[in-house]
Amino acid sequence: MRLVEKIVVSLAVVAMMFPSVAEARGPKHVIFIGLDGWGSYSMPEADMPNVKSLMDAGAWTLRKRSVLPSSSAINWASVFMGVGTEGHGYTQWGSRTPEIPSIAVSEHGIFPTIFTVVRSQRPDAELGALYEWDGIAYLVDTLALSRHIQVEEGPDNDSQPLTDAAVEYIRDKTPLITAIIYDNPDHVGHSVGHDTPAYYDVLAYLDGQIGQIIEATRQAGIYEKTVFIVSADHGGIGTGHGGKTLSEMETPLVMAGPGIKNVGELKSAIMQFDIAPTIAALLGIRTPQVWTGRPIGEALGR
Ligand SMILES: [Zn+2]
Repeated sequence: MRLVEKIVVSLAVVAMMFPSVAEARGPKHVIFIGLDGWGSYSMPEADMPNVKSLMDAGAWTLRKRSVLPSSSAINWASVFMGVGTEGHGYTQWGSRTPEIPSIAVSEHGIFPTIFTVVRSQRPDAELGALYEWDGIAYLVDTLALSRHIQVEEGPDNDSQPLTDAAVEYIRDKTPLITAIIYDNPDHVGHSVGHDTPAYYDVLAYLDGQIGQIIEATRQAGIYEKTVFIVSADHGGIGTGHGGKTLSEMETPLVMAGPGIKNVGELKSAIMQFDIAPTIAALLGIRTPQVWTGRPIGEALGR
């Protein structure tokens, strides 16, 4: 018996002396920034210097594929839940509960999200989600979050209130995961149209907001330890989305920071539901069997 105890103790000591590779080399913070309705088709023309500097420093694809239908709640659910539509069961643009019962639910009564999974393995972690569209609240597992804040968009597509709230949160709490979801360029896509000067104006504006968030990590002293992930739920065509064109189905995925290899454009096929497993892999978090997404090994050097 005493021998067993000694072995257990010495294994614990060894584990402390040699933290896992993921913990040693990976990020201490992940900031996920979502732009609702940001289609990959826009990137050749988009004036987004902050996003492009992340692309230059990390790994990216313009071919990440949405799940069907190419609308908001369905795809944000897949981003956070690591599974496709049929698994999580959210099937409409504004689904607040799944129309198809989720194939599995956590103790919080919702399909396990990245926040659910991290919370179960890091009980004390600071995990936050900030967003403009209140529909996000139903897709993140708020019971797993330390903080979830809905910030109303100001008039004329003013997202500064959300950015200010995110900057304050990052500076105050230096969270393990911060998800920040802007509700544009979707609004302008619906009102004026996708692939219009007004759409590109909003993309340039949002890039400036992203720059403020990057700057906040510098002020908080966590820039070197932070992975930035920027992506979207769906694109659009004309004044809508939800259909099967690649303008609607392909969205950018940009990642940079510790643990992300600077491989530039990714050759792998990447799905919407690969984002959550990739965040988990970066943080050394085990993922549930019900997730079908895979970590993007090419970006992680694995
Ligand atoms: Zn959307």
